[in-house]
Amino acid sequence: MTAQPVTTQQSSTPADVPATVRASLSPSRAADFKTCPLLYRFRSIDRLPERPTVEQARGTLVHAVLERLFDLPATGRTPAAAGDLVGPQWDRLVTEQPELAALFADGDSPAAAEFLRSAAALLEGYFAVEDPRRLEPAERESLISAVVDEELLIRGYVDRLDVAPDGALRVVDYKTGGAPREAFEARALFQLKFYALVLWRTRGVVPRVLRLLYLKDAEVCDYAPDADELLRFERTVVALWRAIEQATAQQDFRPRPSRLCDWCSHQALCPTYGGTPPPFPTLAAPDPLRDARSHPTPPGADE
Ligand code: SF4
Repeated sequence: MTAQPVTTQQSSTPADVPATVRASLSPSRAADFKTCPLLYRFRSIDRLPERPTVEQARGTLVHAVLERLFDLPATGRTPAAAGDLVGPQWDRLVTEQPELAALFADGDSPAAAEFLRSAAALLEGYFAVEDPRRLEPAERESLISAVVDEELLIRGYVDRLDVAPDGALRVVDYKTGGAPREAFEARALFQLKFYALVLWRTRGVVPRVLRLLYLKDAEVCDYAPDADELLRFERTVVALWRAIEQATAQQDFRPRPSRLCDWCSHQALCPTYGGTPPPFPTLAAPDPLRDARSHPTPPGADE
């Protein structure tokens, strides 16, 4: 099994992609298939729209504030400064993604105010576990990618990458969801291993630490991967992609009910809940790199 570096910076365009590449996969979509093949189909093949939830919007907002916080001089990265960023960042997000405004339609300003307060509360959780005045991240919201098995492009956004003076890498992911953490922990760790694999393949260094920061609980979960584990993980990702290809060829994506169904936007179409999926779309001109031409799930939108 071989891998080729593509990019570790802000963009990955099809022009960067070797001609051998046939497909691309983000950690979110891979985790969808692992969680429930039918959920993968709804999101990646049917491309059914999902209205953002308040929880996802809060995650996006908190990620945006934490990214901008590090634009400030180190001494200015205080809880008050983070709080001051909440309103302007929300205004920016609503301008860029007008569908977010619908969350507080009908002029429900008390709900909007409570939403902003709840985002500020999550930021307090952040300051309980880290002091950003003592950190200088190497990268924030960075799109990283690599080619594995010569034909699969794997890519995703890293919330934050810290590089120690000795070159050691720490991958940091902010978790803002209010759902029980256990329900999502395996998915979160899968995502971090995905990033670790890309970094290992592009920089030749196994990240020393994969760090999950649970802001609601003000808790830190550190994980130290090793090369053997990432090698096994790489095989898992490639096998997962082959399973996706096979399911697509056979148009066979089965529901796999779990606790995560409570957060699924597509219960009405799911046979588990008495629904019927739409006809399988005709993939007249398959474009396996379609995902490589669009952004993978942005930070904070997959909490
Ligand atoms: S409701 Fe559950 S089983 Fe059905 S598609 Fe969603 S995650 Fe899968």
